[in-house]
Amino acid sequence: MVDRPSELRSGLPCPTCGRSLLPVPLESAVIFHCRNGHELPLIELVNAQSLVLRMGLETLMLQWMRQLQALHNTVEDARQHGYLDVAEIVQRHTQSLKGRITQLQNAFTQSEVERANQAYSRLEDASRGSTMPGLEDSPAASRKARV
Ligand SMILES: [Zn+2]
Repeated sequence: MVDRPSELRSGLPCPTCGRSLLPVPLESAVIFHCRNGHELPLIELVNAQSLVLRMGLETLMLQWMRQLQALHNTVEDARQHGYLDVAEIVQRHTQSLKGRITQLQNAFTQSEVERANQAYSRLEDASRGSTMPGLEDSPAASRKARV
């Protein structure tokens, strides 16, 4: 017996207690639940900056993309054989899967932008107060002037 669809198995550890997390796709978001009842939005997992979580999420994305490809093939197959109602049902699964993949990609992008912003503001703080060396005094500039 299949206890739950394979697409919902993630193998991700809960950052709070370490038990495995299950993605629960909602209408507009993907939420992760662990067996101890912790509830984590996707973006929190991405922002946790944990390599295990990061790799787990990337694996999950690959799984979802493979499933998307398989669903596409099923839709095409059903259409070719005239099972239009089947094609329509599978097409709906395809849409929700696509939505989840997009959310995962957006969460990755969002976390990268945030990290870049943090790095940038650290850089600004560091350069504040120190003066840049004048270009006029550099050997390269005077060499150019002589030519
Ligand atoms: Zn937990």
